Amino acid sequence: MTIETQHPETLVLHAGFRCDEATKAVAVPIYQTTSYQFDSTEHAENLFALKERGNIYTRIMNPTLDVLATRVAALEGGVAALAVASGQAASTLAVLNLCRAGDNFVSSTDLYGGTWNLFNNTLRDLGIEVRFVDPSDPENFRRATDAKTRCYYAETLPNPKLHVFPIKEVADIGRALGVPLIMDNTACPIICRPLDHGAAVVVYSTTKYIGGHGTSIGGLIVDGGNFDWAAHKERFPTLNEPDPSYHGAVWTEAVKPMGPVAYIVRTRAVLLRDLGAAMSPFNGFQFIQGLETLPLRMRAHCENAAKVADFLKTHAKVTHVIFPGLQSGEVKRRADAYLKRGYGALVGFELKGGRDAGRRFIDALKMFYHVANIGDARSLAIHPATTTHSQLSEKEQTATGVSPGYVRLSIGIEHIDDILADLRQALESA
Ligand code: PLP
Repeated sequence: MTIETQHPETLVLHAGFRCDEATKAVAVPIYQTTSYQFDSTEHAENLFALKERGNIYTRIMNPTLDVLATRVAALEGGVAALAVASGQAASTLAVLNLCRAGDNFVSSTDLYGGTWNLFNNTLRDLGIEVRFVDPSDPENFRRATDAKTRCYYAETLPNPKLHVFPIKEVADIGRALGVPLIMDNTACPIICRPLDHGAAVVVYSTTKYIGGHGTSIGGLIVDGGNFDWAAHKERFPTLNEPDPSYHGAVWTEAVKPMGPVAYIVRTRAVLLRDLGAAMSPFNGFQFIQGLETLPLRMRAHCENAAKVADFLKTHAKVTHVIFPGLQSGEVKRRADAYLKRGYGALVGFELKGGRDAGRRFIDALKMFYHVANIGDARSLAIHPATTTHSQLSEKEQTATGVSPGYVRLSIGIEHIDDILADLRQALESA
């Protein structure tokens, strides 16, 4: 039975799975198996030739992971999704599915540091050129595009700046040129659906809000099914030229009977097969549990974060607060255009006493965890100048939006009084 709904609260509980056919179990079972018995040599041959759908080997597909992927695809308004080992694996495969050595892609400068390193070093070493551009002017993406540009890449709500990315503006530029936009929506599940604004692919680190409980590392790639890869044959050779590793299949042709899923089927059948960054079925189960309460948690995260931002903005030791709900002008217009159910749960603020005050504040926290993570149900804090950004000079830190007294909070779902009490007492020591 398929439940017809667009409500995220229902989709996360019902999309893609009613009960286990074999046992009638209602909770999604953990299919902790590497392999699947073939009925006959003909069955096996058909599966390998993609003539029939079915399971072969858990590195490429698994029924537990399939439910997770189907639910997130439904939530995002996509056509299909793929679960992978981590958020890093998701962004790596999402780009590698389109780019080969000698190609380039254009990325926003406002990125998670791990993604920055991946693009600027590891992908460059593979011969793929990243062109970083400032997203405050969407036209920068057009200016950086040429015939070898395979995609655009950005984060919906990048920290530390917390300036929401102009999704529609850049997606429109890309669509006119035949370039798809890949959005990392890790910080904004439920509150933003990038595919609705023209993005072609969405990636997640499920490690964060989707898991929600800080137990598992994982990632997801969602195919919007809304980009015509075959209309731009020269730009996308990986999808439009015969694939020698797959019986000479042309992906845009071979998967036509399955719908507009060429992008995600190739990611699975070629990149997951070859690079092997598979999610474990147990972690998939953990993410399914997290997903079931994601809408509720996001509401609580966002409500608490808005109250924290309000509290901090009048505090005597705080020079300014960075939170989408408190921004102004064009930056605020974008926050309101793309964040629909709250402004997220990341809050940045600047302490008057600079670097030493930042250290003192972090060391005085009692309930907040001092960790390099976001999106846990617990409240988290970090002082970038002494941790994630410590290798940068003070000048570089300022350029990336991190000043010596800057603190980043990922607000959890504890009672707001306890969150504010911990912040209040730590600020006294700052
Ligand atoms: N994208 C964003 C926005 C992140 O914050 C992170 C991790 O912090 C990642 C991707 C990478 O995810 P993972 O740690 O699951 O590899």
